[in-house]
Amino acid sequence: MTKEITHWAGGTEFTGTPELWADVTNPATGRVTGRVALASEPDVQFVVDAAKKAFTTWAGVSLARRTQILFSFRELLNSRKSELAALITAEHGKVFSDALGEISRGQEVVEFACGIAHLLRGGHSENASTGVDVHSTRAPLGVVGIISPFNFPAMVPMWFFPIAIAAGNTVVLKPSEKDPSAALWIADLWREAGLPDGVFNVLQGGKTAVDGLLHSPDVAAISFVGSTPVAQYVYEEASRRGKRVQALGGAKNHMVVLPGADLGLAADAAVNAGYGSAGERCMAISVLVALEPIADELVVQIAERIRTLRIGDGRRDSANTIDMGPLVTKAHRDRVAGFVTSGERAGAEPVIDGRDVQAHGEEGGFWLGPTLFDHVTPDMEIYREEIFGPVLCVVRVSSYDEAVALINANQYGNGAAIFTNDGGAARRFANDVHVGMIGVNIPIPVPVAYYSFGGWKRSLFGDTHAHGTEGVHFFTRAKVVTSRWIDPSVRSGGGLELGFP
Ligand code: NAD
Repeated sequence: MTKEITHWAGGTEFTGTPELWADVTNPATGRVTGRVALASEPDVQFVVDAAKKAFTTWAGVSLARRTQILFSFRELLNSRKSELAALITAEHGKVFSDALGEISRGQEVVEFACGIAHLLRGGHSENASTGVDVHSTRAPLGVVGIISPFNFPAMVPMWFFPIAIAAGNTVVLKPSEKDPSAALWIADLWREAGLPDGVFNVLQGGKTAVDGLLHSPDVAAISFVGSTPVAQYVYEEASRRGKRVQALGGAKNHMVVLPGADLGLAADAAVNAGYGSAGERCMAISVLVALEPIADELVVQIAERIRTLRIGDGRRDSANTIDMGPLVTKAHRDRVAGFVTSGERAGAEPVIDGRDVQAHGEEGGFWLGPTLFDHVTPDMEIYREEIFGPVLCVVRVSSYDEAVALINANQYGNGAAIFTNDGGAARRFANDVHVGMIGVNIPIPVPVAYYSFGGWKRSLFGDTHAHGTEGVHFFTRAKVVTSRWIDPSVRSGGGLELGFP
């Protein structure tokens, strides 16, 4: 049985006039489970119009009412998140517990946005000049577009839409066409939470849908997350049209292990962050930088742990039997396997080759087991490119400076981690590396919701990171009101004075 996955506009499903449909597969079986509408230009207009119409009233709804709806959404999400997690596992392939984890991290942003009344408070200065008061407010922007990647179909949209909606904007979410069902489920949850029709909309599709949002004069801002080439394109196209834009791109995150670190802790972290969600995380560790003389021992400990991992259909992990699922599509699986071949050819040492994996799942699944390469050098393709799969590369270095130089020479600057028991070295590392998010003895340092998420260099185009106070600033614009009210007991005019006040 395949299902049809449509758009959502004005509080209800909308099929539109799609010029094309795309197959949606279950990566653990390889079977087509649905087909998703790919928006045409008129469909984009229809969905944006629904959001535009809703903005005229939503921006004027009281903060108290907006907050109540957010609290209802949070309660519903919290009580029904296992339904959403099951949808994610069935289309993305990540194991069920991991899908639940991404929802919980997204829910933190909903909880942060429940406090929007406090976050939108402006300042007030009485008697800034004689009889003149000044106050500031933050106003919503209008219709905002959110374009998200396949790897976090719930969490990444939730980095943005709770804050956008709480601040009085209306939203058009364009999810990845690879796992589009989560967005529709979320839209229905908003309806149940009492959000007025048209405030949250879903536009399914690919490039036509994205270009439609970028070109529409009715879309005021774009929040994009995806690969670096598309992030750069979105940033350039949106900013050329005067839109506010934040575009988060790809990553190659390094984890440095210094001599004296707890090697057991480091090995656990490398495996968890390297192979969790089959390496399809923008904060995955893909390069392990081992400072000699500890590399031999560390590689042995990592390899021992990898051999205990169970690869299979993530839907089976309710009995806690599976650690890592398949890759998202066959094309992506083959691309990652191609990197493994490239590493081998370039002379890296394959300690564990995931192409030989025996998965607990159907033969048609897009399986690729955890792969560990040792003696990787910076000139190799597997070091230079973002692989976005379960491939961990060990680079051996002989000094701390060499480790930092590697990180700073990389085109990406999303995250980096250091494992050490030396507080001074950790502190220096946090200052020295040119990345946006740093972990000390923590491999995936995704900031909590009240801080902001974002990388440096080619991992983020624009200057505003996601969620936290930067998110509130992104989805609002400042207004300053300077006012004079004549004291009724004085009743005098200001007099004529043509000079600059
Ligand atoms: P992607 O760039 O292929 O797709 C992202 C979005 O852009 C999707 O909605 C897709 O439909 C759309 N898109 C794809 N090609 C397009 C084109 N040519 N023109 C216009 N729109 C297009 O990324 P993906 O494969 O879905 O996700 C994986 C990538 O996302 C990785 O590079 C990963 O590092 C990155 N990512 C980054 C972060 C971060 O916070 N920096 C978080 C998650 C994922």
